Amino acid sequence: METLWSDFLNSRAGDWRGGSGLQERMGKEKWQRYFLERWSLSAPAPASGETVKELQAFREQLRALVQHYIAGGLVSEKDLEMLNPVLAKGPVIRCAIIQGGVISMEGVPLRNDWEQIMAEVAASFLHTLTAGEPSRIRICDNPDCGWIFYDDTRNRTKKYCEDKTCGNLMKVRRFRAKKKEQELGKDTTTTSGE
Ligand SMILES: [Zn+2]
Repeated sequence: METLWSDFLNSRAGDWRGGSGLQERMGKEKWQRYFLERWSLSAPAPASGETVKELQAFREQLRALVQHYIAGGLVSEKDLEMLNPVLAKGPVIRCAIIQGGVISMEGVPLRNDWEQIMAEVAASFLHTLTAGEPSRIRICDNPDCGWIFYDDTRNRTKKYCEDKTCGNLMKVRRFRAKKKEQELGKDTTTTSGE
């Protein structure tokens, strides 16, 4: 499952097939428009070069925090010192809404700029930490990918961002590695043709 904050982090991700290294999409107007539309947010697109740098810097701080957390680390006071100023720049007004007969309360953003967006990203991450199940936060098991996602499967066993792409690729890699091992076991003088 994609969340607002993980979608933001995945604006920079590896090429799952290996090869062309990290793909940086944050500075692209197309990505900015996609992101704003997907999460019903509003800010000027294209963002200025200066703003893109700020967004990237925040993304790297948040990514480092998430990776630390996935590795079993704890969220510290220092992390909150990073998150709180970001949150402070995104004021909201509380608003009660009814959808399909169900009442809920939402924070409606007051500003229409990228600082507000960063605050929404930080708030979404804190929502997962405090109201979700943070133990479900994953990083794709394909080392070339690095996609971050929230594992919403019932048995909590999702290892790859997508089974069709990374899952299959890693299956093929494991199969080849095993085959190679078996071949080497049979005749150590054989060199692999791959
Ligand atoms: Zn992946």
